[in-house]
Amino acid sequence: MLIVMDNHATQEQINNVTQKIEEMGWEAKQIPGGERVAIGVLRNTGAVDPAIFIDLPGVRDAIPVSKPYKLVSREMHRENKKIILKNGEIVIGGDKIVIMAGPCAVESEAGALEIARLVKEAGASIFRAGAFKPRTSPYAFQGLGETGLKILAMVRDKTGLPIVSEATDPENCDLVEEYADIIQIGTRNMQNYSLLKRAGKAKKPVLLKRGMWATADEFLMAAEYIMSEGNHDVILCERGIRTFSQHSRNTLDINVIPYLQKETHLPVVVDPSHAGGKREQVIPLAKAGAAAGAVALLVEVHNHPEKAFSDGPQSLLPEDFVKLVAELRGMNFKV
Ligand code: PEP
Ligand code: MN
Repeated sequence: MLIVMDNHATQEQINNVTQKIEEMGWEAKQIPGGERVAIGVLRNTGAVDPAIFIDLPGVRDAIPVSKPYKLVSREMHRENKKIILKNGEIVIGGDKIVIMAGPCAVESEAGALEIARLVKEAGASIFRAGAFKPRTSPYAFQGLGETGLKILAMVRDKTGLPIVSEATDPENCDLVEEYADIIQIGTRNMQNYSLLKRAGKAKKPVLLKRGMWATADEFLMAAEYIMSEGNHDVILCERGIRTFSQHSRNTLDINVIPYLQKETHLPVVVDPSHAGGKREQVIPLAKAGAAAGAVALLVEVHNHPEKAFSDGPQSLLPEDFVKLVAELRGMNFKV
């Protein structure tokens, strides 16, 4: 249930509605809006009767929310969410396609800085690289950990590019929150509820990747976990799902982009790199994602992909990345 207050509702009237919700044993969540306050009713087990609220002073409407997810839903929040970085210089969900680019992992100080300079020059506005790497094999490179995060902070200082980097458990989420500008939660951790709850307490935006096996609604429920802890700056990332196809690592679910945009006000980002898994698929998938409405792209780029510690085969070369940006501009996207 969403209780929409009148434009001129007083604080006392808002408090009165909140108190009524709490008396019923539910949780009240104020949702700030441009013109008027709305109050979401959460943690109700059955349907909420609008009659409880509709005649209270200052209440304009009581709208049943039909979905299991509430805070993420467009029913609760009509306007698109914008994620603002660098005092408004970068807006995810604004009029430009924001490109987050960089290697899969931080491998060395010099390497990270060089790639960051190349992608910045080509049009990227956020640098991506993992310091904690969730790998299928326990023997594969696991990331540089805090050393990697320190390198990323240095890259930000030298290039001005904000950093997105992955947290793989609640403990390293503390470190990622300290050093990075956006906390990434990877596909394998989409239902790691203790990590989702920890990220929900963070003071930084969270880029949540869709589980490779997850339905769109499970994806939205994972985002709801983060928001229910108080962090409303959530970015959803479609990164390809498992299908029977053998011609690509995963299948980019283009359909999910308009579905998510109907269901939620949260920004939707596409990762063409993990979807395709092969360099030659990345540019077409990135363009398809943008054409379908993604507001940002997360792209792996490496200057020596043949030597990359992880995901070399899907990493664009710097010159491919330049080509991608040019082709997006040719499609009339602002980058
Ligand atoms: C990554 O972004 O490098 C990554 C590990 O992504 P995913 O969780 O989508 O596999
Ligand atoms: Mn990767």
